Amino acid sequence: MKNYLTASISESAVRHNIAVLRGLVGEGVKLCPVVKDDCFGHGMDVLYPVLAELTDGFAVAAPLEALELRNKGYHGFILCFLSAYFDDFTIQDELVWQEITQTVMSRSALTSIQEAARRVGKTARVHLKVDTGMGRLGVPASQAAELIRQIREAPGVELTGMYTHFATADGEDHGMTLQQLELFESILPEGTSIMKHAANSAATIGFPAAYFDMVRPGIAVYGCHPSDAVS
Ligand SMILES: *Cc1c(COP(=O)(O)O)cnc(C)c1O
Repeated sequence: MKNYLTASISESAVRHNIAVLRGLVGEGVKLCPVVKDDCFGHGMDVLYPVLAELTDGFAVAAPLEALELRNKGYHGFILCFLSAYFDDFTIQDELVWQEITQTVMSRSALTSIQEAARRVGKTARVHLKVDTGMGRLGVPASQAAELIRQIREAPGVELTGMYTHFATADGEDHGMTLQQLELFESILPEGTSIMKHAANSAATIGFPAAYFDMVRPGIAVYGCHPSDAVS
């Protein structure tokens, strides 16, 4: 049976959206579009060439999405919002081999990445995700320092970044976002050059204080406003 629900995806519209986002953050901040769930259902096959040309990397949710980008021939920065901790060794090893930056949120994920790095004989790059109030994914802020220490002690694993995700950056009230931002800043280790990032679409559009080194817009890349409160 035919699927009658269709969406028409305009490459030039996405080009335009990227240009707008680039204009907002400026040249000094990396633009890393979130392409999870097949570009939020808009279709990676159509958008990949445009995004690969115009942005500084890709963020995906799952390990297989990251490997798919490598299969397309993408050699640049790829951040996976998860690690391959729940996948089999083949995938765990492949992520390290293909130089996908994985997210660490727990000691157990760190151990699995460390073992994959040893098997593959290659350094695994990781970003630490801190829960500053979203209450979903990430190491609790109070335990971040300990996990940072463990990552730094883990052979074959290199901490190259730290990030958080905002719960309500698309709401009318910036209070919660500001609180999360302050908590995030308070736990950033001093004197390191690791990449820091926090901004989703709403914060990229309305919260420059959260830009740090990179922004991770999802929905805004595809042309939707995150909510009526963001303009
Ligand atoms: C989905 C996601 C984003 C993008 O969020 P938008 O609101 O669509 O811009 C950014 N960061 C993380 C960690 C995400 O999971």
